[in-house]
Amino acid sequence: MNPIFANLQTSIFEEMSALARLHQAINLGQGFPDDPGPEDVRRKAAEAVVDGWNQYPPMMGIPELRQAVAKHYADHQALSVDPATEVMVTSGATEALCGALLALVTPGDEVVLFEPAYDAYLPLVLRAGGVPRFVKLAPPDWRFTAEQLKAAIGPKTRVVLLNNPQNPSGAVYGAAELQLLADAMKGTDAIVVADEVWEHVIFDRRAHTSVLAVPDLRERAVKIGSAGKIFCLTGWKVGFVVATPPILKVLAKAHQYITFTTPPNLQAAVAYGLGKEAAHFAAMRNDLQAKRDHLAKGLRKAGLTVLATEGTYFLNVDLAPLGLKDDAAFCRRLVTEAGVAAIPVSAFYADASMKSVIRFCFAKNDHTLDESVRRLSEAAPRLVG
Ligand code: PMP
Ligand code: GLN
Repeated sequence: MNPIFANLQTSIFEEMSALARLHQAINLGQGFPDDPGPEDVRRKAAEAVVDGWNQYPPMMGIPELRQAVAKHYADHQALSVDPATEVMVTSGATEALCGALLALVTPGDEVVLFEPAYDAYLPLVLRAGGVPRFVKLAPPDWRFTAEQLKAAIGPKTRVVLLNNPQNPSGAVYGAAELQLLADAMKGTDAIVVADEVWEHVIFDRRAHTSVLAVPDLRERAVKIGSAGKIFCLTGWKVGFVVATPPILKVLAKAHQYITFTTPPNLQAAVAYGLGKEAAHFAAMRNDLQAKRDHLAKGLRKAGLTVLATEGTYFLNVDLAPLGLKDDAAFCRRLVTEAGVAAIPVSAFYADASMKSVIRFCFAKNDHTLDESVRRLSEAAPRLVG
């Protein structure tokens, strides 16, 4: 068996969700909202199942969705995208990531990863034959510098895999930081694969800057989005890739032999949803921002050090001020003894070098967040002592 997968552990999300079920804990680990998601979008999907097309859709995605993606990005991010040659629909962002790495990386090529790196990245890079080069980010603000980029990016770099907004840190990188990346990539053949699945989940009046908005990156960038995150319907697994035609053509070759297509009824519903008025997306952001602030306030009251979150469903707690040095052990005790599941951020570092931060998902109703804080406050003296 292939050792990369044979030697892999079960994903930290699956592991913590299973522990949460076993101990009947509140699951603030794996990132999914408890809200059912926009009803009109779900109804569109149901109608499309009953009345619509249920056979193979076109390999690149249904035309309505490809057009909706282009229009959505024009309206929300001022991007100019040709739906016929620059948009492809995939079965979730995960398929898009897998396909991009398989299509772009030749064994021996270097792939730059920013740590903490979303858990799927490293195994997929390794399976594609890529040689990882890490840019390590650290709390409290998780920023990268020109020097770090210069040290990691060079003539052997094939792909720079950037997650923006970043899971699990909650950091959001703006135009100035993307320009640092563009500058570091100058003179190389590298392509930036930008996982922008959290593009709508961004707070404090920030605006998302896509890699495609940076002129120096437009022709050497792959932008990945996910309806799961845009509509808070994480099980939907409808993703989209936007890239210049010469790149997209090659990514399509990988897609045609990974999944080939994505359920047409969900595509139809996502096409409808992407056309919803801007107020819908603003309300979603405001709602999630209020949840972020609600949980942060409760955790601070419980004596925990909460790090700033600029985007995503997640906020992080720094355990270092409590003198705790093993985030994974702490999370295991948290789920078994306090009845709250969280995610140890060391799972997102290949060498587990960062062991003092844990991640909580705040996309839950106030009652659930309050009960989590109550349990944590009650258990804190035991867990910390
Ligand atoms: N990338 C990141 C950074 C994510 O956080 C997630 C899911 N939370 C994904 C990719 C996977 O997206 P999808 O469910 O569309 O495959
Ligand atoms: N992306 C989700 C998170 O960060 C988990 C997805 C998964 O379980 N693979 O929590």
